[in-house]
Amino acid sequence: MIRKTMADRKYELLRADREVQRGEMRKRLRELGDEAGLRELEAATAAWQQSEWAGKYEDMMTAPEELVTEQLKAAMTDLGASTERLASVRVVKTLREDVSAQMTPFSDGSGLVNVADATLTLCSHYARYISISLTQLASGSFGATVRAARAGNMGGDPAVLTGLLRYYCTNQRVYALAAKLGLRLDLEAEKNAAFLYLQASQFIIGHEIAHHALGHQSAVSGFSPDEHIPVCSDNQARELEADLFAYRASKRLIEQELAGHAEAADAATFSLLGALIAMLAVHLTERALFIRRGCTHPSARVRSALLLDQVGEREQQFARIFLSTPLAATEAASTISEEAQLFSWELAGTPPVYTSLPHMDMLKIAHLDAWQCRPESWHLALLESESQESGAWLGEAAQLAVSGNPAEALRLWGVRKAGIAPLCDSAKPLLFFTLMDSLRQGFKARGVESVRTDGYALAAATLAARHLT
Ligand SMILES: [Zn+2]
Repeated sequence: MIRKTMADRKYELLRADREVQRGEMRKRLRELGDEAGLRELEAATAAWQQSEWAGKYEDMMTAPEELVTEQLKAAMTDLGASTERLASVRVVKTLREDVSAQMTPFSDGSGLVNVADATLTLCSHYARYISISLTQLASGSFGATVRAARAGNMGGDPAVLTGLLRYYCTNQRVYALAAKLGLRLDLEAEKNAAFLYLQASQFIIGHEIAHHALGHQSAVSGFSPDEHIPVCSDNQARELEADLFAYRASKRLIEQELAGHAEAADAATFSLLGALIAMLAVHLTERALFIRRGCTHPSARVRSALLLDQVGEREQQFARIFLSTPLAATEAASTISEEAQLFSWELAGTPPVYTSLPHMDMLKIAHLDAWQCRPESWHLALLESESQESGAWLGEAAQLAVSGNPAEALRLWGVRKAGIAPLCDSAKPLLFFTLMDSLRQGFKARGVESVRTDGYALAAATLAARHLT
């Protein structure tokens, strides 16, 4: 009998998620009375069970990542990594919306890579947007693409990507939801988007596997158990080492796949774009969703510059042109202040953007985005005026938060005593959503009507966040 490693046991605990997810999807579809959706889900599940893949992979929802993992391990073995070491690392895709990507080393030498659906969703946003200009380039209008890129207009209006990302970030900050608006692409762009997305997911998974393959140990103990964030080493050299190894492995895979095709010459460029997309996704997550980031990856600018130093002149030039707009959009989307370029509900009806969600949802997110970017004085005045409705404690706590006493403010706002310490512990990373949700619970415990808890929590979290960094 093969002895299970610690990573195997943890993997089994986490992978159970998928059965639960399918159960919840069925429940939700029944509630909505969506018979067609229900039939589609059952048909897809049945088709999967009868396919040749079913016996080979754990689950239809994780099969692509399982395949990527297998291929990456083979490529890394070719590049000289130890087969034994690679056999002791496992990869699990998690449903947690507040995880980015992380590698957890265990004391028995095994390792578990944890990658969030949310991070992959974000990669697909970038991949779809970038595929628009990549497709223009492939159709021969290179000059036009380069000129547009230099003017900062690559792939259309850069405000489009900023808007798509702000929609995602606001949903994450307030509800911990990886929500996204659609981007309609033509067939060629769809193909390019899928290919770029594959490169990005390969890079993210590859980076974490590389930490294990290269024997890097992460300081897992520095993080609270319910705070899932990237635990990559803060040692820049190790991050670059992991980035480079992931890049080389993913480039090798493309070269093998495209062998004999003219596109094989562009393998390095494709895997580089995948790496840059992955870096942007992680950077946006860390900058927009966290109040305190703890030990995380170097910024996307530093990280991409380090990687670009290691690649050829041609790839560097190509990447710089393609990176300019997404990088600027990433910075704009993660700016939460009065200077922010706010999400506008009109974006959803501006081609190529679309959504099947009701107009009310767009208005709500636009409203929440504007709200979170208001100045401190506005939030303070709001909570003070609401004191008449909900009690003097609401405004008193707001005053305490503003004067730099967030712990006492949180107590008065109803946050449980045991919950206050981790929120205020400057050594621990903190998600904006965690603070927001603790406040929501606190207001509920203090008897605030449910229609008011979201608004109060967003104002209170904005006030407290400034003193919790
Ligand atoms: Zn790392």
